Amino acid sequence: MKLFYFLTVLIITSQSVFSQSNWTGNTSPTYPELIDHLKKLDKAHKELSLYNMGPSDYGLPIYLFVINGGKDSTRTFAKAQAGTSILINNAIHPGEPDGINACLIWLDQWIAQGKPLEAKNGDKLPVIAFIPAYNVGGMMNRSSTSRANQNGPEEYGFRGSTRNFDLNRDFIKMDSKNAFTFVKIFHSLDPDVFIDNHVSNGADYQYTLTYIASMKERMSPHMKDLTYEKCIPYLEKNVKQHGWDLFPYVELKGETPAQGIHAFNDLPRYAMGYASLFHSISFTVETHMLKPFPQRVQATLAFMEGIVSYTMENSLEIEAQRNAAKLWARNLRQYAFNYQLTEKADSVLFKGYEHSFPLHPITGLKELTYDRTLPYERMIPWFKTYIPKDSVAVPKYYVVGGQEQEVIDRLTANHVLFETLTSASIDTFHVFSVKSYKSPVQPYEGHFKLSQIEVGEAEHAIQLKPGDILIPSQQDAALFIHASLQPRAEDSYLTWNFFDSYLQQKEYFSNYVFKDQIAEILAKDKKLSDEYQLRKVTDEKFRNSEWDQLYFIYSRSPYFEQTFMRLPIYQKF
Ligand SMILES: [Zn+2]
Repeated sequence: MKLFYFLTVLIITSQSVFSQSNWTGNTSPTYPELIDHLKKLDKAHKELSLYNMGPSDYGLPIYLFVINGGKDSTRTFAKAQAGTSILINNAIHPGEPDGINACLIWLDQWIAQGKPLEAKNGDKLPVIAFIPAYNVGGMMNRSSTSRANQNGPEEYGFRGSTRNFDLNRDFIKMDSKNAFTFVKIFHSLDPDVFIDNHVSNGADYQYTLTYIASMKERMSPHMKDLTYEKCIPYLEKNVKQHGWDLFPYVELKGETPAQGIHAFNDLPRYAMGYASLFHSISFTVETHMLKPFPQRVQATLAFMEGIVSYTMENSLEIEAQRNAAKLWARNLRQYAFNYQLTEKADSVLFKGYEHSFPLHPITGLKELTYDRTLPYERMIPWFKTYIPKDSVAVPKYYVVGGQEQEVIDRLTANHVLFETLTSASIDTFHVFSVKSYKSPVQPYEGHFKLSQIEVGEAEHAIQLKPGDILIPSQQDAALFIHASLQPRAEDSYLTWNFFDSYLQQKEYFSNYVFKDQIAEILAKDKKLSDEYQLRKVTDEKFRNSEWDQLYFIYSRSPYFEQTFMRLPIYQKF
């Protein structure tokens, strides 16, 4: 087999290759142009395949383009799962299409190189798959104005999906058909590396290329070491050789970078946080909005080239560490959540621009301005340590009521293994009862998402029925299961309103009837009677309210509905 000087050749000849590519200018293709182009490449090259992976909310399909797959989709996905694979997601925010052009240029270069499948030293090209454009509805909604602060391209799509969701908040709740198609793509590949391509908003600074890595505290120790000790240092060095500085995403602690930046909490609702639940090395690429589009595309391409090289050179280590991470998650005893940023500050050398607050001639107010004629390099605070506020013991298995079809659909789509009961039985389970929660006045991403949830936990005899499902914690999807089923976890199905119907009392009492029953109830329950008398003595409002007194007794009596606020999620330890 002929050997290729894959990477070095790529760098040396990149100038001449760029001139052969149509994707280096200030334009980005429309969705039909993009798919049309990829269909032609699929036809022309046996190493390249375009697959229709399922619907989007818009009605058009979401595609997956695969480089170096098998002969058909079955063999392609088997190869990706067995070997090393990279998944790149483009245009989840179609106003930020840099990744589309970068992937197209990468393809042009690779074809011009003679489609090398291995490097000189024998390192194999991974299976490289990219979603050409994920937010199809947003792609079809083009303009030149929806990204007010962005420097190109001339036209681009819109952030919202056709149902006006931000799809980059949809990876646990899965309101969109897009999310179901994504999850199918993701689990078909089981990617070792996942990249979500974006363009930043916010402060001005010198960098074109920034990245977000998954929050290290939420990762398995194996993926944390691999990502932070090996992969990121490699990428920094590699993209520097291509002429780019790689800097962490500038998430501001205060108003300007001078007050410091902080690590991003990539909750599972985000693409990269979702991928991290399944132990993919997970990055969000954020190019800087004020840099010209062609330059941003080249920076995104450099990151992609860096990731491809890293994956080629370290495939055995990546595979081994991912397997170790899966084993770690299967055997997890304690699940931590509600991560909070600490005040512990490291520092990092930052290439910024001086800022000031001159009076604005129209608003008359002091407005933040960055001065590009005054670049600086100085150390700024870097807050990158999170701690979990809460943790819970991991049960041996969960039970979810079979009536919760929407939850079961999402677990199934995510390859969660469970057993469906075929007969009724009674057993004692650890049961969650919601004690309190906050619900916002305004919706967020189509939901009145619950927060500040408190739950009580107690052992109860529970009648199980055919159709209820038993979900063991010891499986590869363990982190997804805990993230979605632990009621107080940040992105749990309880927070996303899947269990709202259990938060309403269905039966009450009539005062005029119930007041005749309380003597009997109190006579039978000495403890309740004592609590009631004490409350009357110590609480004036209570003493003067018939309703409060009757409800106090009712809610503690056998007449009260046992299932009020009780979630149809049970745990067995
Ligand atoms: Zn974005």
